[in-house]
Amino acid sequence: MDRLKGRKIIVTGGASGIGAATARLFRQEGAAVAVLDRSEADAAAVARGCGAVAVAADVSDAVAVPRAVAAAAEAMGGLDGVVNAAGIFSPAGIADTTPELFSRTLAVNVLGTFLVIQAAAALLLAAGRATIVNIGSGVGIMPTGPGSTAYVASKGGVIAMTKAIAQELAPAIRVNVVCPGAVDTPMTQGFLRAASGAVDPAIAGRYALKRAATAEELAAAILFLTSDESSFVTGITLPVDGGRTFH
Ligand code: NAD
Repeated sequence: MDRLKGRKIIVTGGASGIGAATARLFRQEGAAVAVLDRSEADAAAVARGCGAVAVAADVSDAVAVPRAVAAAAEAMGGLDGVVNAAGIFSPAGIADTTPELFSRTLAVNVLGTFLVIQAAAALLLAAGRATIVNIGSGVGIMPTGPGSTAYVASKGGVIAMTKAIAQELAPAIRVNVVCPGAVDTPMTQGFLRAASGAVDPAIAGRYALKRAATAEELAAAILFLTSDESSFVTGITLPVDGGRTFH
């Protein structure tokens, strides 16, 4: 408890899955939290449930993001942390990957992460001891197979961008990226589970630990990289993938 006491943190994608679990855990650990999501109603529901603030914005919208970040900081009385968990995944093989699908995937996952950091940077620098945690993916380190070129490109971009931003914003801001394996969230609803309801053995079998993660297991890693427990850690890529990439 209290590992984030007094901290003021925006969690993008906080209306669902990993972001929602992170928002709830951060509130339990004493932080003020702003749930920033494109889904206003879902963001409000999560925020109500854990005593956070809700802010609606599409992270790929360069006009909306600075306004949303400013509104979140004003509501919390400052800003010293960001978790970028907003993301989209549209499986498609090479032949089915349209320019629109490719561009949209990069716009949300890479540009969206960048725009939030850009809008938050001055406030985070002023805070003096701030953190950013981006969410990449294990597939950005090593793809699991065919069918997700645009998503893999976007997550590779998030991993590389994290290192560049960590260099530029040091020493005031620590910037790291967490790379999940398969996580049981609405994003994976359509393919994670076999007809039996159990996690598809073909997916579970990719992981040394032979299962998918819970959103709460990802939130715990994000908490580590946001709290002072990781005070000498910046620029790292942390796989939380049950032993698939062995990165
Ligand atoms: P999710 O679909 O449950 O939640 C994603 C959230 O992001 C949703 O609330 C959605 O409304 C929000 N969002 C999407 N596009 C947005 C936009 N343009 N602007 C603002 N908000 C937007 O997914 P999740 O599983 O919790 O994924 C969270 C992050 O983890 C994503 O970046 C995802 O790529 C990554 N990830 C997930 C898995 C997995 O297996 N679930 C694995 C690796 C990486």
